[in-house]
Amino acid sequence: MSTPREVTLIPGDGIGPAITAATLRLLEAAGAEFCWDRQLAGMAAVKAHGDPLPEMTLASVRRTKLALKGPLETPVGKGFRSINVALRKEFDLYANLRPAKTVLTNSRFENVDIILVRENTEGLYVGAESYIKVGADPQAVAQSVAVITRLGAERIVRYAFEYALKHGRNRVTVVHKANILKYSQGLFLEMGRMVAAEYAGRVACDEKIVDACAMELVMKPESYDVIVTTNLFGDILSDLTSGLVGGLGLTPGANIGYDCGIFEAVHGTAPDITGQGIANPTAVMLAACQLLDFVGDVPRANRIRAAIEATLRERSVVTGDVGGTATTDQYTDAVIARLTS
Ligand code: NAD
Repeated sequence: MSTPREVTLIPGDGIGPAITAATLRLLEAAGAEFCWDRQLAGMAAVKAHGDPLPEMTLASVRRTKLALKGPLETPVGKGFRSINVALRKEFDLYANLRPAKTVLTNSRFENVDIILVRENTEGLYVGAESYIKVGADPQAVAQSVAVITRLGAERIVRYAFEYALKHGRNRVTVVHKANILKYSQGLFLEMGRMVAAEYAGRVACDEKIVDACAMELVMKPESYDVIVTTNLFGDILSDLTSGLVGGLGLTPGANIGYDCGIFEAVHGTAPDITGQGIANPTAVMLAACQLLDFVGDVPRANRIRAAIEATLRERSVVTGDVGGTATTDQYTDAVIARLTS
């Protein structure tokens, strides 16, 4: 018998512990063998250790190179950076993979199947922000610098093309704003074109300005396949694509680096429904499927996805956010029943 792979488990805040517990139950029912190293981050870590991202949590991820993570509440106030951004920087998780696929029938769009690849470490999220004093006002001007590097742009576009090749996708759309931001977005587009040329004849490529892309995504989303874009545009467009297929409760996100992956739901801690037992665990369950893909257990990931999709399509045992009345546990039981039937 092989030794189970060790994975850091960060249950997170708010609905995080409930939806990660449901996900572990599903993984166990599917026979996935992981050895979980439970660690804290977010408000749970502030309460226990006075630090939203304790060194022991980082040490665990450094060792396991894998984490399944619930949503985290970033404490408000000076001195606390965004924990998610910090994790991405620490482990150089440069690719944020956010799939959006129609599962629920009778939703607004029937055939959406988009893979959004967001650059995760550069752009306006590098934290290069400052105030400029004018006269007596020390904060008269605020500036945020968008940093795009040749290396960063090339590796994310290459990731998108490699993903397309590996998963039988036909086309990558490079989304940008190079018509206005000639330097930063211009460099991103230049690298997009350079990498696309290497894949000519194998994966098609087109280019879209981000505002036109946003409009097309709500008018004919089925025409998109793989999208690759910079950090801020990817952040916004991926919430948009989540909305096309039934909301944040259904959308997972993988943060992937050269040798490390952190898998999570796209949504937050949902404080308005915390403790009620009604959260939809699907996004974290699908994030766990991305984790299984990452470690090469694709058949098991697909078996779990099929059980989730069948349960959602039937709609008889689904949570409130997607029009049902089931609790987190009832829904999880229904998915497990599909898995084993
Ligand atoms: P949110 O995603 O937590 O909630 C938005 C709405 O969606 C709420 O009505 C919520 O009830 C609902 N919702 C979200 N997930 C759901 C689920 N699984 N099942 C059913 N309904 C669900 O966004 P917010 O309210 O803007 O943020 C709350 C907190 O989460 C903030 O502290 C924010 O910083 C944090 N956050 C964390 C992450 C992360 O860790 N990846 C991402 C986004 C927000």
